[in-house]
This record gives sequence, structure tokens and C-alpha cells, in this order.
Amino acid sequence: MQACCVNHAEVVFKGLLEKKEGVPSELQVFVNRILKDHSLFAKYIRMYAEVRVAILKKYVTAQATIYRCSNCEGDSTLIILSAPLLLLIWRISMLFMRGINKWELNDKKLIVDFKSVDGALKSEFKEMIDEYLNGGERSFLTLSHEIEKVKEVPKVCLEDFHYADVFANLWVMGHEVAHTISEDKLSQVTSELLEIRKATAKFVDLYDLYPSVAHEWEEELNADLIALLLLYLTEAKRLKVDLEDVLVRETIASKIAGGVALACEAMYHIVRNVYPENTKDLNELKHPPLEIRWQVVKSYLMQISRPRANVSIFYFADVISRISFSFTDQ
Ligand SMILES: [Zn+2]
Ligand SMILES: [Zn+2]
Repeated sequence: MQACCVNHAEVVFKGLLEKKEGVPSELQVFVNRILKDHSLFAKYIRMYAEVRVAILKKYVTAQATIYRCSNCEGDSTLIILSAPLLLLIWRISMLFMRGINKWELNDKKLIVDFKSVDGALKSEFKEMIDEYLNGGERSFLTLSHEIEKVKEVPKVCLEDFHYADVFANLWVMGHEVAHTISEDKLSQVTSELLEIRKATAKFVDLYDLYPSVAHEWEEELNADLIALLLLYLTEAKRLKVDLEDVLVRETIASKIAGGVALACEAMYHIVRNVYPENTKDLNELKHPPLEIRWQVVKSYLMQISRPRANVSIFYFADVISRISFSFTDQ
């Protein structure tokens, strides 16, 4: 993006916040930092979009707005990420870590041992979700006591969850940006991005949806997978490792799977509470259900990372879903 378009993004951001009664969030600092750490991923994002973090209306995960620069008249995109969602993802990871007893790497294999989750932890989890749903706690600063609570958590576990949080954020960002990139621009990044579109179209065909709904689903799944592929390719470059090595592919895929699982986990709890009556008719859903999005993500990650038969790249993701169950079962 040109400097004039970046400047104009700020004008658009202010205007949108005024219209929607939103406010900028201090999480912007956190998002800027992870973009700086993942500079190649950030480079792709910034080819098309500027990213801002704000406290948005309830249940909005993120929004993308296309605008025309007042100086050069070029089109660009402003992505506004929902600070409450990013905070929820972080809080879930902080709480889930407290359900871990042991987290050790043994001969490159992760060994995890769970704690039994007591009533106090379960109610803490419920309160956290309620706070989100009621528009309560919205700031890292008021949550500094949460950091105190993970003092006993094994260091490797802290690191792994930190990465899952970072990847969850990047994936959400990548998803929004992917929505706004046109097909011809996609093919310039990598030809594999075009293959994604063919594969999701085939997959959505299986569901016998109305054409308009099928189109919406395809757009969502495409955005999920484009974000995934960009993360996968740029992470290998960031770590200066070679994707020809199966160990490298497994490690990166498993980290990314953990991040996507964490993001889906947060969205799952929102959806479950906001729409408790689950509709059976898929044609009524503008977005594919999270379960389906997760299945598509999994199968695509398997396809690009080609792990060995005896290795599960979803081990960390499975750990997250197991802890989730222990925090929410009655
Ligand atoms: Zn411009
Ligand atoms: Zn989307």
C-alpha cells in the first residue's frame, strides 16, 4: 500500500468508529508487535490492508471496509479487529493452561497430563464468557492479575499457548484480508491460492445448498484456507527452515493447528451462547458451522504438511478440545 493510502486509513478508521460508537483499543500495541515479529506475513497483509483494533459492537469478530484513497484514488482495505474477541482468545488460553499438570517434551514428543478441573475453575470460565457476552472486561490492563495465576504452569506450556494465541490472532487477521483480495491478485502471491478455491467449491458442492448460500460458504472457507497457507509459508521463512523436511512441516502445521483451534474455541463459545437453538437447516446459515470450518482446515493442513502416518499434527488442538470439555461439562 502507498503511504497516502495508509494515511487515509486513519481517516476512515476514525469515521467508522464515530458512526459505530466504537473506540480504539490498547490491544493495537499487541497486534502491532506480533505483526512486527511475523514481518513477512505482515508484508502480505499490508499489501492490501491496514489493520486496526477497536472495541466494536457485541459479537462482531472483525470487519473489513474497502475505501478509496483521497489522494491517489486507489482502493485499499481497512481491517478492524474486535478487541473483545482477541481478549477472549487470550483469556481462554490463560485459563486452559491452568487445567494442565504436566507439559513436557520427551524425545520431541509432547507429553501432557491434565488436572481435574474443579468447580471454582469452571465458574471462572463461565464468568469470563459472560463478561464477554455482556460487554464487560475489555482491557489487558484490568486483567494483569490473570498473569499471576499461571505462575505454576510449566514454561514450555506457557510458550506453546502463547504461540497458539499469536497464531489465532494472525489467522483471524489473515481471514479478513483474504476476503478482500481478488482472484487475479491471489494468483500473483502463489498459484496454490487458486487451487484452494477449486477445492472448497468441490467441498461445498457436497452440501446441496442454495447457490447464494453455497457462494457465502465458499468465500468463508476460502478465507480460512488462504490465511492458513499464508501463515504456513511465511512461518517457515521466518524460522529459516526448509519445508522439504517432514519434521519442520509437522511442527509448523501443529503450531498453526493449535492457533486455529484456539480461535475456533473462542468463536464456538460465542456462537453457543448467542445462538443456543442450533438450526438443522444448513441453508439458513450464512457462515459454515465452526465444526465444518475446522474439518476443512484440518484436511487442508494435512494436505500441505504431509505428516508421517504415526504423527498427529492435531495433538495440541486435541488437547485444547479436551480441556474445553473439562471446563464446560456439568
Ligand atoms: Zn493513496
Ligand atoms: Zn469471513
